[in-house]
Amino acid sequence: MEKKIPIIDDKPAKPIDYTDMGLKIKETLDGRVDNIGLVEDGIQIKETDLDISLKDDYLWDVLPKFDFDNPPVDPEQLSMAMVLYMREQGGIGLAANQVGYNFKMFVTEGEPAFAVFNPTITFQSPNLVMLDEGCLSYPNLLLKVNRPASIRVRFQDPFGNWITRQFAGMSARVFLHEYDHLLGVDFTDKVSKLKLEMAQKKAKKRMSNATS
Ligand SMILES: [Zn+2]
Repeated sequence: MEKKIPIIDDKPAKPIDYTDMGLKIKETLDGRVDNIGLVEDGIQIKETDLDISLKDDYLWDVLPKFDFDNPPVDPEQLSMAMVLYMREQGGIGLAANQVGYNFKMFVTEGEPAFAVFNPTITFQSPNLVMLDEGCLSYPNLLLKVNRPASIRVRFQDPFGNWITRQFAGMSARVFLHEYDHLLGVDFTDKVSKLKLEMAQKKAKKRMSNATS
């Protein structure tokens, strides 16, 4: 199914200083890294030559699992590169298919930021919360989306270990937003056509204000 991104960000991409970002991420993560963090004792954040940029090739596809037995890309390197890119772009979550990879994986901001491979949602709270959301694939677009207040999830870390976690509030929201991406669903699918059109107009206005 073809779907067009309604607003294209035509600003030239800023060059990414991985060295600098690497230090920053290390400062942030040092001292409070648990088994879902990207950094463990002895693992250094290094420069990565993985070229990450926004691509929509697989954005609306249901993605296959990440195959840890035969990895198409180094999962740890990819996780680091995606966290660095996400932070550079000012996002708090980024799915693999937003940057041209077709497998179930995303990174989210947190303490520390972490990478999620092959997630499943095992429980969703029936309590829904409505909040504004943005998405790096839709620059300037903000949509009010209803989501469960808390979730229980299962996923693999970059080393293939299975993790079970509960999230509430913003971390649950980000997890659900990114999880949707892996099913080829994005936040524009979560609102009415009218609501989307109004939000797109506002986004265009925001865009022209920013460039004029
Ligand atoms: Zn998104």
